[in-house]
Parts: sequence; structure tokens; C-alpha cells
Amino acid sequence: MKLDTASERVDVYVKHPPKTKFCCPECKQELACYDHTQERTWRHLDTMQFKTYLHASIPRVQCPEHGVKQVDVPWAEGSSRFTLLFERFAIDVLRSTQTVSGAQVILSTSWDQTWNILCRAVDRGQARKQARPIRRIGIDEKSFAKGQSYFTLLYDLDRSAVEAISEGCDTSAADACFSELSQDQINSVEAIAMDMSAAFVKSACANIPLAEEKIVHDRFHVMKLATEAVDKVRREEHRDLKKEDDTRLTGTKYLWLKSQENLTDKQMSRLDEVFTHQLRTGKAWAYKEMLRDLWHHDTAAEATNYFSQWYRSVIHTKLEPMKKVARTIKERLVNVVSYCTLGITNAVAEGINSKIQAIKRRVGGYRNKDNFKKAIFFYCGGLDLYPQ
Ligand SMILES: [Zn+2]
Repeated sequence: MKLDTASERVDVYVKHPPKTKFCCPECKQELACYDHTQERTWRHLDTMQFKTYLHASIPRVQCPEHGVKQVDVPWAEGSSRFTLLFERFAIDVLRSTQTVSGAQVILSTSWDQTWNILCRAVDRGQARKQARPIRRIGIDEKSFAKGQSYFTLLYDLDRSAVEAISEGCDTSAADACFSELSQDQINSVEAIAMDMSAAFVKSACANIPLAEEKIVHDRFHVMKLATEAVDKVRREEHRDLKKEDDTRLTGTKYLWLKSQENLTDKQMSRLDEVFTHQLRTGKAWAYKEMLRDLWHHDTAAEATNYFSQWYRSVIHTKLEPMKKVARTIKERLVNVVSYCTLGITNAVAEGINSKIQAIKRRVGGYRNKDNFKKAIFFYCGGLDLYPQ
């Protein structure tokens, strides 16, 4: 062992006693040492604050069956330049810093080295992964690089894990995700959360037996449509009012987009003030808030009943954007009220979503789509990432 205080490093040289026997890495047959490779170096856990390196010439054996082979060393995997303990520590650091550049500072490794540890961990986890039953799934789209491209993600809602990722957000992208599941897994699916996009419905029906009975249109997506409709009504009305120098809706955009309980007292009184003017926007907002109660019913029959009343009152208004939403929901109503029996939303994957948001914010560090996918699997894949 060599301790160099000036360059703050510790070098450990590993040698084996003479006449030690080694196993052929292929067939595990014990053989005498044939020769040694050139010296190789592995980064190990720091000794105090000193970077520590392991050095060894790896023995080779000559197997009658497999020829001359380099033996496996107990402290590192294959071609890795790091010891197992170091990789394990690096995985923990990557997990807690949630960023490669952050981890690299703590580990004193290069970006590429840190990234390679992450990739190896994902490969390891995916190789070990077993096809377990997957009862409740979610399928959703995510944008990458400021909406320039999209990914389709398939979640295991019970394990809060991303099971599959494919590029795009059309039927074939969803098909690609389903194709990652085994036939047994496909048959084990009992409920599928998704938005109301025709592409995902089509794919689910083509891939999952009896999908029509299992689909639940995610309530957050449905409410998003209603919220967007309110915003549309507001924009149109605001435009009309401004023509007559009426500024009652100026600066109110975000008041209408939030749900009631998230408004501050000040915002709430502002909302009340606008309300008293009997504007179309206020009316649309009230219908949106009413719609939220659709998910507070115990049975699908009660929810259907509630919706029918809501639908009747909305459809007789002049709020075109809201009427459009009402018609869209009506068309898919069975798979909206199925929430009452199947009880799933993609929000079960809320933990995953916030992690993906964090990954996206740091996306500059991920350079491209493949890296983004790797990072999602590392942070949200529910994989066993550690070496051995
Ligand atoms: Zn052999």
C-alpha cells in the first residue's frame, strides 16, 4: 500500500499467493494460473478524504474447453473501472442528488464515468427484472425538451414504477409500451388509467383483453379539459369586453384556473367580486367546479345520474367550449364513472411524476432522448440497481 499525502491518494496493490487456483469464468472449473493481464486500476471508496485506487494484474487461466480466460475478480464487475463498493455508493449518491452533475461533485468522477455507473445500474436492474403480475396500470404522455417531442410511459400503479417508455404519443407508441409486457402480465391487468385520447383507447383495446371494461379516464385529465374550456370562455369574453373598454376580467386568468381550495383569501374575494357581475366566465367556472363532484360518488350509477343533470344544464347554455367538453365526456362516460368501481387515477403515480419533472428540469444534463429514458428507469423504474 502506498500513501501519497501530497496528491491525496492511497494506492492499494492486490496480489495473490503463489499456486492459488482460479476458476474459469465460463464453467467454474478450478485451474492453475496461466499468466496475468497488464495491471489494471479500480477506483475504490475514499480512505478518509483521500481518493483510493486498487491495482492488480488479473490472473488468466487456460481452460481445456474455453481457452485462455481472464478470471472474475471479487471486487468489481466485468470491465468497470470502479469497485463494487464504490458503485454501490455512487448509486446512493445519484439517487439522493437526483442529478449526474451533482453526484459527480461528491464522487470526484467525470460526467461520463458517473453516467456510465447509472447506465450499468439500469442494465443490471433490467436484466434481473422478473415479469410479475401487473394489475393496475396507467398510460400517459410526457413531453421532452419543451414539448418538442413526446414519450409514452406505461406505469405499474401499485408499485409506482415506470414499466415501459416509447417515443411518440400515438397508437403505435402505446402499442410499443404494451409489447414490453409478457402475455401473463397482459392477462393480469385489471384496470388501466389514461386520458381520453382516442389513440390510447385504441391501443388498449387492441392489446388488453376486455379493455373497455378496464379503462378509467383519468380524472385529472378530464378536469384539465374543463379548466381549459373555462380559460377559452374567459379569453373570448375578455376580448369582447375590452372592445368596450371594460377591464373587469383583466388579470384574472389564474383565478379561474385554480381550484377553489387553492385560492388565497385575497384571490377568493377578487373572484367573488368578478362573480357579482354575472359574466360568462364566472358561469363556466361554476360548471367546472360542479363537475369535480362527479368523482365523489360511491357507485357508477350515482355518478352517471349526477353527470346527466350536469350535462343537461351545461348543454342549454351558450358556453360553447364547455358544451364541447360535456359532449366529449358523455361519449366516454362509462370509462369516466368506472372510477367508482376501479378507483384508479394516474395520480397514484404522483411520486413518479414529480421525479420525472425533476429529471426534466435537469434535462440539459441528459443530452438526448435515450439518456432521458435511462434516467427515468434509474429514478422511477423500481429496479434493483445495486451490484451483486
Ligand atoms: Zn471453462
